[in-house]
Amino acid sequence: VLLVRHRMKKSRRWARAMAILQELEEKCVTPAAKLKQVADAMTVEMHAGLASEGGSKLKMLITYVDNLPTGNEEGLFYALDLGGTNFRVLRVQLGGKDIGVTNQEFAEVSIPTDLMVGKSEELFNYIAEELAKFVAKEGQDFQVPPGRQRELGFTFSFPIMQTSINSGNLIKWTKGFSIDDAVGQDIVSELTKAIERKGLDMRVAALVNDTVGTLAGGRHTHKDVIAAVILGTGTNAAYVERAQAIPKWHGLLPKSGEMVINMEWGNFRSSHLPLTEYDAALDSESLNPGEQIFEKLISGMYLGEIVRRVLRKMAEEACIFGDTIPPKLNVPFILRTPDMSAMHHDTSTDLSVVGDILKSTLEIPDASLKVRKVVVEICNIVATRGARLSAAGMLGILKKLGKDVITDDENQKNVIAMDGGLYEHYAEYSKCLENTLKELLGEDVSKTVTFEHSNDGSGIGAALLAASHSQYRD
Ligand code: BGC
Ligand code: MG
Repeated sequence: VLLVRHRMKKSRRWARAMAILQELEEKCVTPAAKLKQVADAMTVEMHAGLASEGGSKLKMLITYVDNLPTGNEEGLFYALDLGGTNFRVLRVQLGGKDIGVTNQEFAEVSIPTDLMVGKSEELFNYIAEELAKFVAKEGQDFQVPPGRQRELGFTFSFPIMQTSINSGNLIKWTKGFSIDDAVGQDIVSELTKAIERKGLDMRVAALVNDTVGTLAGGRHTHKDVIAAVILGTGTNAAYVERAQAIPKWHGLLPKSGEMVINMEWGNFRSSHLPLTEYDAALDSESLNPGEQIFEKLISGMYLGEIVRRVLRKMAEEACIFGDTIPPKLNVPFILRTPDMSAMHHDTSTDLSVVGDILKSTLEIPDASLKVRKVVVEICNIVATRGARLSAAGMLGILKKLGKDVITDDENQKNVIAMDGGLYEHYAEYSKCLENTLKELLGEDVSKTVTFEHSNDGSGIGAALLAASHSQYRD
């Protein structure tokens, strides 16, 4: 193979590189008509997932959140936010009577990677330990009334089959987590046992997905919030559904008439999705083959990895980085999405940022300007596909709610609370997402739908839901 490669003429190599690039571009195109098909498929699956348990790849999970924050929540509450490579602990003092948050503190701790694939008890011991340390630092500015137990809102960003507002079993792990003995377990009881082992007296009052926390946090500041979308390491959406539109719900009809649904849209798949050989290989070599296909196309954990796979093919078949394949290019997940984003946003004429990142992350010291341009183009193709597909997902939700038509009615304002590192930091991605929604719904879409970045709203949202489900609530 090496010899053949050696003999491959420079011009032929470049032609091969261009052919690979062109094929990628063709396979990744997402014209409006295709996005509308994706949105329609999303709407269909939403109906199916609401109709019966297991009725669709979209789990459409019942969250037991049938009331969103009103502004009257009051007292000191803790929150724990677990879902990515870091977890956060917060304490929030709520003022009641529309005063909102009067004081808050947080600490962020990274999760050692071996704990992400180890034993349940080890993970929860580690979390409880950090939580205990944080509680120990509670100062005079924060007050739990004497004789009261501390209460916690637990944001757990994985699919859970809830059995009540503060209990539920883990369906499966996603993102980089894989802890077999936790699957099927009640996550609140796992946490509670660890909290007890640490001798901490604290009750989990609410268990919420990050999308649900973001929705609750967003609603607290903006009454028109109807849905929340996370675009971060993973991706997902939650929205407010009419309880009567949930055939699989056999419980009492909530007074509000509403129920928040955690869609788990990361697991959406459809024949309309533009999948490539790179996606297929990424999926089959992942921790969860066949699962989270939508997530693997659009979220932060995977975008950089897709780009790496394209570059690897170009290195192998078109020798764009010389006669041998740079060894680092063989390492899964070595090219992180923040690096991809930095390359994509490189505006220098010599693409020096691209050059630096190729050198520092992939140990490719001398890529020519021509090659750097190809790298930027690959980033653009992959990010654009992801952003446009997430816009299609949002259109699917709006269609389900009958809110996909622009009106001049002031009362028809809909706000989508957004969060996640990808949305927050990858400007080309979020710009493309918003433009795509315009393309799909019309230039003046902002009359009907607007986005609001809810910065770490999921933690505050969990604290608010802990407050409204407090054992002391009257
Ligand atoms: C999880 C969701 C979560 C999303 C964003 C996905 O991998 O399945 O529960 O909301 O990531 O954090
Ligand atoms: Mg988060």
